[in-house]
Amino acid sequence: MRKVAAVTGGAQGIGKAVALEFVKAGYEVSVADTDKEAGMELMEQVRSLGGKGMFLPVDVAEETEVQRWFKLMLDDFGRIDVLVNNAGIGMNGPMLELPLESFDRVINVNLRGTFVCSQQAARAMKRQGGGVILNIASTRALMSEAGTEAYSASKGGLLALTHAMAVSLGPYGIRVNAVSPGWIETADWQKASNRRHPVHSERDRLQHPAGRVGTPADIAAACLYLAGNGAGFVTGQNLVVDGGMTVKMIYEE
Ligand code: NAD
Repeated sequence: MRKVAAVTGGAQGIGKAVALEFVKAGYEVSVADTDKEAGMELMEQVRSLGGKGMFLPVDVAEETEVQRWFKLMLDDFGRIDVLVNNAGIGMNGPMLELPLESFDRVINVNLRGTFVCSQQAARAMKRQGGGVILNIASTRALMSEAGTEAYSASKGGLLALTHAMAVSLGPYGIRVNAVSPGWIETADWQKASNRRHPVHSERDRLQHPAGRVGTPADIAAACLYLAGNGAGFVTGQNLVVDGGMTVKMIYEE
């Protein structure tokens, strides 16, 4: 049967890899992103893979824009099987100087935006008899550097939102899980005008037990697993994909 995946922030970076991997797996994709130029580039790639896709410029912090996206998506594709809440921003800076507007914006995009999109998706999935929601959190939900309060709080909130929604939506056949990326290199997954060739030092690589920095493909693979029937008994979980960085104990010498 034809399947549809919706990806927020899917025009660049991790979300772009997720969208393209879902296309390769036979899904039709609907992508919402604030960057129109990047969205148009992505749609060309979707077409060159022989896939079907739609792109809409959407700020996930704006409920009316999200509602419009879901209406157009459901009118055009008729269903939604997977929602990947990937859109996210940082705005890191010294805590004592952080303007409240910055804190609010990060929470509104990363956490509230995820709730708004999930509510829309879950209403359609309930009517269909099931679906999958995936929230892209971060290892920064679990550990921190200084000056990351808004981002870390938004991602910690996403883990709680994940288990809460898994319990609420389970009776409708909807599974909800989080994927927490560690250090994922996205420089070569930006729109053409911003694309850079990534360079990593030996030190960058060796911080990871896996011996390398992560790629968007690592996260896309986790999403495809969690979206598939092989993960049919997995819900409310957080899958950390970080090359082992968060389990490595560090002693200062
Ligand atoms: P990115 O900046 O490369 O791409 C993010 C995309 O989201 C962009 O296309 C951007 O235009 C879009 N976007 C931003 N704000 C939006 C909004 N309000 N509404 C809709 N779209 C919006 O980012 P990335 O590194 O690929 O990160 C993707 C997700 O993964 C984020 O949630 C991020 O927090 C998370 N993450 C990334 C890393 C990493 O190392 N790259 C690590 C942990 C978690």
